Amino acid sequence: IVGGEGAIPDEVVRDYDLKETLGTGHFSKVKLGINKKTGEKCAVKIIEKPSGSKIAMLKAEVDILTKCDHPNVVKMYAVYETETHLFLCLELLTGGELFDRIISKGHYSEEDARKLTVTLLEATAYLHSLGIAHRDLKPENILLKDEKDDSPIKITDFGLSKIFADDLQGEVVMKTACGTPGYVAPEVLTHEIYSEQVDMWSIGVIVYILLCGFPPFYGDNDAQMFKKIKAGSYKFLAPYWDPISAEAKDFVSKLLVVDPKKRMTSVEALKHPWVGKADAGSTNLF
Ligand code: ADP
Ligand code: MG
Repeated sequence: IVGGEGAIPDEVVRDYDLKETLGTGHFSKVKLGINKKTGEKCAVKIIEKPSGSKIAMLKAEVDILTKCDHPNVVKMYAVYETETHLFLCLELLTGGELFDRIISKGHYSEEDARKLTVTLLEATAYLHSLGIAHRDLKPENILLKDEKDDSPIKITDFGLSKIFADDLQGEVVMKTACGTPGYVAPEVLTHEIYSEQVDMWSIGVIVYILLCGFPPFYGDNDAQMFKKIKAGSYKFLAPYWDPISAEAKDFVSKLLVVDPKKRMTSVEALKHPWVGKADAGSTNLF
């Protein structure tokens, strides 16, 4: 879908050596950039500008992101633009996607899942306090800073991907057909006006998966899965969930609530007993 990156802006040429492609997304190409002055590495995400009114939305979002400053939110150093493309200079993350970590681990221990959840909630609460909803939280959009086992997580891709989503017809369908489980909140599926509470639903899905290794909502096809999401119909399947604490189950069940107003907010979730359970001596960054 992404063609070439078009002309490279003068400022990018002036400030960065652009090296190999680190990854490609649906709407972007990400290249290694080396700051010519400092030698510092960054990830340059090259996005083809969307059509019409969306460009204003995109720019507004990018503007907010440059103001974000949180240890678990990817840093955006600078933004450049040409006629056709945006160039986002981002903090370089080398640890890959949380998705791949989950697959290689099978699932997380409850304590590891809990620590990761605390970080995820803190970063999300930070974004929500700035009035930013991520809207596309899923393990593919949570990258690890480095390859270490206790690498901190960084939320990436917020808001941006959803701005493009309508451009790419059937994206949701395509993704689920590729085996990506549904992280999307019921109110999104029913086309209601939705708020940052959609992120809390997604966190419920992510934490469910972290704890047991499989998704809460599934079906033989998307229609079936979406029906289950809309009904909020899932189970803590035995025997997989048997060893998991009642507090963890309570936490998940207060996020996978169909009515967004009754769903825990990020601030409430941070006060939930499962999350608040202090673990003395833990130095893990996530
Ligand atoms: P899209 O929004 O188009 O899906 P992503 O932001 O997911 O694009 O980026 C596509 C790929 O580029 C990612 O899967 C990852 O491999 C790589 N990538 C993205 N951001 C970074 C980063 N900050 N550091 C290193 N690699 C990155
Ligand atoms: Mg992405």
